[in-house]
Amino acid sequence: MAQLYYPLLRNRIRQIISGNYGPQKCRFGQGIRVQINQKTKLPEPRNHNGIDLEANEGTAVFSITDGYLYWRNSRQSGFGLELVLEFEYGGTTLYAQYAHLQSISVAIQSEQGLVFYAGRDTDFCTGYRPLGSVMGRDMIGFTGSSGNARGLPKIEEHLHFGIAKGMSEVLTGWIDPEQVLRRIPG
Ligand SMILES: [Zn+2]
Repeated sequence: MAQLYYPLLRNRIRQIISGNYGPQKCRFGQGIRVQINQKTKLPEPRNHNGIDLEANEGTAVFSITDGYLYWRNSRQSGFGLELVLEFEYGGTTLYAQYAHLQSISVAIQSEQGLVFYAGRDTDFCTGYRPLGSVMGRDMIGFTGSSGNARGLPKIEEHLHFGIAKGMSEVLTGWIDPEQVLRRIPG
């Protein structure tokens, strides 16, 4: 089985999260977050489909293993600028999602040699677009506060990292990243 690495050099679950309804959890879970229902104006539980790792804007992110990289920057999704790594794990294909990025910065090995891709959180595209193959521990971009992380106080800046079992228009079948990587302090 391919070796797995963490997405950052220093990996720690973020501790502080503000919001109108008190502290919210930064690990993976069903119904652990709160949001306002726009019709009833009442708070409702919602899922957190990933983990939040402490990372000030501009922190380098790395490929967790060998795989194939895609990017998306949808105005609707809330994830902002994303990278998604398709990889094999225990005989199945999984998709690792890096969300709220500031920029993409990755060198892809191709038949023409190394091709460098750079993209900003102001470059939008709705569907997932292919970039190419990367290896574990390759640097692929930098964290930011794009999508619904826009405007967070500096102490709350983070990388949202998810793992899904399927990818079509959107990622589907979220699983706990800490079941695939080892548990992360925080
Ligand atoms: Zn998150």
